[in-house]
Amino acid sequence: MSDGGTGNVASGGFETRAIHAGQAPDPLTGAVVTPIYQVSTYAQDGVGGLRGGYEYSRSGNPTRSALEECLAALEAPGIESARGLAFASGLAAEDTIIRTLARPGSHAVIPDDAYGGTYRLFARVAGPWGVEHTPAAVTDRAAVAAAIIPGKTVLVWVETPTNPLLNVADIAALAEVAHAAGALLVVDNTFASPYLQQPLLLGADIVVHSTTKYLGGHSDVIGGGLVAVDPELIEKLRYHQNAMGAVPGPFDSWLVLRGIKTLGVRMDRHCANARAVVELLTSHPKVLDVMWPGLPNHPGHKVALRQMRDFGGMVSFRVAGGETAALAVCARTKIFTLGESLGGVESLIEHPGRMTHASAAGTPLEVPADLIRLSVGIESIADLIADLEQAL
Ligand SMILES: *Cc1c(COP(=O)(O)O)cnc(C)c1O
Repeated sequence: MSDGGTGNVASGGFETRAIHAGQAPDPLTGAVVTPIYQVSTYAQDGVGGLRGGYEYSRSGNPTRSALEECLAALEAPGIESARGLAFASGLAAEDTIIRTLARPGSHAVIPDDAYGGTYRLFARVAGPWGVEHTPAAVTDRAAVAAAIIPGKTVLVWVETPTNPLLNVADIAALAEVAHAAGALLVVDNTFASPYLQQPLLLGADIVVHSTTKYLGGHSDVIGGGLVAVDPELIEKLRYHQNAMGAVPGPFDSWLVLRGIKTLGVRMDRHCANARAVVELLTSHPKVLDVMWPGLPNHPGHKVALRQMRDFGGMVSFRVAGGETAALAVCARTKIFTLGESLGGVESLIEHPGRMTHASAAGTPLEVPADLIRLSVGIESIADLIADLEQAL
């Protein structure tokens, strides 16, 4: 970690790293917040004489570097070799991982309830390029092992908790399965955030994020990121980041950095509010089933207890009365805003069957028609409870 007034933060607690890692006061002015270096190119002192290591902002930009250093410090505390890379979106980060590690003729195992955009990237973009994939239930270690094609599978791709059913995958167990076959384990940590779960410490090779969600946290930026610890792997990913060019601009990098500073306190409140919402839903006569990894009867509860600090702000539930009733609830909430996405300070409600997961209709990834998904925000909990009560 660079010094400059903040001391060595690498060994500090999560919130200290979130606020300071990569973000020492500006050496020129003392500005306590990393400036937005809105610049494309850098003056050289003679050919190749770079003053601060920067030559062109696709290859590197100081505001982006601060974000990349912070991401690494959050996902891999204490691992000296960890490096982060920032991207223009979560899908840009995913695409860069696929192009770096897969080749025409190779194969990936993906979650059978993957984020829709991830599924589309594998099926419609990587597929025609020649990379095959097999969907498997990431909650089932044997199913993942069976989906691996020895000699062809290069990636095992996992999300946990999953979207929208909030299934939980055992990261350490799947790392063993992937490594036994010579494949790498990629974990999409978007739903948990590094505050709740740190997959690299459990054996994952790459963590990928849509920083659009909890890391940014304010529904005002699209971004992506990844962190890895193996120097050779990082070098390949960095090469592709520059060669493919899907990098975030300085202002977007700055917005994500600003969001990250409050990640810890926001996540505590997201989790506490979600717990209170789950209490209401589990005792409500109109609610059939509640999906949240913090519930003792959730099939992934034991694994979640082991690998997560808390259970997150995403809650899904099914209502009596089928799709009509679910759509009516979505139409009646006033504080829970009807909309896609998640992870912002404001509460959102959506109908996966008609919205985020509409493209999965008629496939094995289809979701129940009476399912509602909540991204529980950090508003006053009494108001959120009252809103759901009147809507139900
Ligand atoms: C939103 C999301 C993505 C895609 O990220 P974008 O920033 O929208 O490109 C990937 N994975 C998960 C789990 C997501 O929620």
